Amino acid sequence: MPERPLLEFFRRLLFGRPRASQGLLRSLGLVALAGASCVKAPLGDMVPKREVAKAEAVHLLLVATNDWHGQLFATKDFGVQEALPQGGALTFFAQLSALREAFPESVLWADAGDSVYEGWAAHQVDGQLATDIFSWMGLDFATVGKHDFDYGAGREGKEAQGALKANMSRAKFPWSSANIYSTEDGRRPAWLKGDTLHMVERQGVHIGFVGLTTPTAPLYSSAANLEGLYVGNMALAAREKALALREKGADVVVLVAHAGAGECTPMEEAGEAELTQCEVQHSEIGQLLEALPEGLVDAVVAGHGHSPLGYFFKGVPVVQTQGLGKRFSVIELYWHPTQKRLLHEKTRIEAGVPICEKVWPSRKHCEGPPLPGEEAVAATFFGKKLGGDARLMALLAPEAGRFYEREQTRLGVEVGERLSLGEEEESALGGMWAESLLLATQADVALVHRGAFREELEAGALLLGRFFRSMPYNHRVALVRFSGEELRRLMQLAFGQTRFRFDVAGVELQLSCFPSGRRLVHTQRVSAEGHKHAVQDGAFYWVAMPEFLAQGGAGLEGMLVDAPLRPTKLKEGMRTEALRFWRQRPQALFSPLRPRILWENAVDSSCRRHTPHPKEQL
Ligand SMILES: [Zn+2]
Repeated sequence: MPERPLLEFFRRLLFGRPRASQGLLRSLGLVALAGASCVKAPLGDMVPKREVAKAEAVHLLLVATNDWHGQLFATKDFGVQEALPQGGALTFFAQLSALREAFPESVLWADAGDSVYEGWAAHQVDGQLATDIFSWMGLDFATVGKHDFDYGAGREGKEAQGALKANMSRAKFPWSSANIYSTEDGRRPAWLKGDTLHMVERQGVHIGFVGLTTPTAPLYSSAANLEGLYVGNMALAAREKALALREKGADVVVLVAHAGAGECTPMEEAGEAELTQCEVQHSEIGQLLEALPEGLVDAVVAGHGHSPLGYFFKGVPVVQTQGLGKRFSVIELYWHPTQKRLLHEKTRIEAGVPICEKVWPSRKHCEGPPLPGEEAVAATFFGKKLGGDARLMALLAPEAGRFYEREQTRLGVEVGERLSLGEEEESALGGMWAESLLLATQADVALVHRGAFREELEAGALLLGRFFRSMPYNHRVALVRFSGEELRRLMQLAFGQTRFRFDVAGVELQLSCFPSGRRLVHTQRVSAEGHKHAVQDGAFYWVAMPEFLAQGGAGLEGMLVDAPLRPTKLKEGMRTEALRFWRQRPQALFSPLRPRILWENAVDSSCRRHTPHPKEQL
């Protein structure tokens, strides 16, 4: 297959064999996922032939990243003994350079936002280093993610969005989102970088980019960070911008959208561990593509969801990775210069190419543990060893020492047992957080959302790097007042669904499997000593929760539609509040002693069966 060496290379890299047909899945309204997180990737000694499709078509390679969150350095999986480092700018740049060398006129790179906010690492200044590194590596276009607002005014600044504006003025790449407007006059803020109709050219083909941001963005950052802005309808903005780009001469239009691209679950039934099925129709990207005229956009680089995706929807390729600089995706396009059209039948997706400098030879991948006695080997990519570029190393070096030192800093807190994320009705980590917030703020009830927690905590001394990566966002704690009746409704919203995404402290909830699915039947207060009290309709209760929940995020909008009017006290960030509390008391961190959730009736396995916890929406 000399015509598509890259495709074949990636295919073997990801699957080791050709991908199964997607026809059946499509006809079911589902689409197959090209790169699940569990794929075995033989990234080792494979050297593809450098034969590019010279013939009739212009070959374009769209490299897609998302949700880097400023993770410029390779990190190791704490949960795996002998884990290998994964991700990081050095190895990614080596792979990108290998692609650029192999296909000099083909490569473009777009990033779908949450690029610079480094909650995971806490080692930089307001995202400046990440901005500089992305500029240096030659990013062609980035959109604005919700967390790109998280530095607010910046360390010294007073101006709203001061940190983002400063980063935008540093950036050498166009960085814009077409659906962000000023609340003052409804116009586009002048400081959005690259708000002109931005196009790049490859071999005479003009590629236009449209940046988009999820209108739910204000629910994820602090309200103050988006002061003076609103995030409007994506379809309207996309249509207007894409049409304008077409008018200006864009041959290919790429949406770079920080917006949910759907959810995927392993397709166990089919016995295909490598295939995954995705429900995309109701996702933000699915609805966006439904709303746009056919043929207006040619590809979507998505972010926000942090789940590995790669699919075609209405013929449009859509990709996303789990972020944190660990993988990238590639969309391969062919443009016919005389027919002036993309050869859609040739469009290919390779989702989730791992960023590994060393690999386990048995799997040609750096994720997971080695086989007994196995030694890691240097990875190669298009025949190149993935050594660090000396110039890039020099740029990163001043921060690298600080980063690894901070990673290992002890916080003076002991974790008493392994606190896992959990996907069942109770999570050890979520329960510990809910209980800590309850005690630290002296609230009546505490509610946390599992989307905020990203890695488990292992037993032993709590290290700074581990702490940040387990809980990357220092959301402020909000104490919100509810009546007893409202408290029950709040719990119904949080726990009346078929998925467990919340953990709670200060109440005990009784759930029932019947009559259809899982639902909350009873809520009662539980004191620290275990005394139980009825929730009184006439009484008021203070509920501690992260600010994004208090703003109506994570499905609570129906309950918190009156958020601005509701009595609320804002505290410091969750990490800050919890750390202060933990340091004041001698105990180590444990999961809660008593269950918070009880089942009312005998529970059969189908009732308890949960959908895998999506690493979604943060
Ligand atoms: Zn993100």
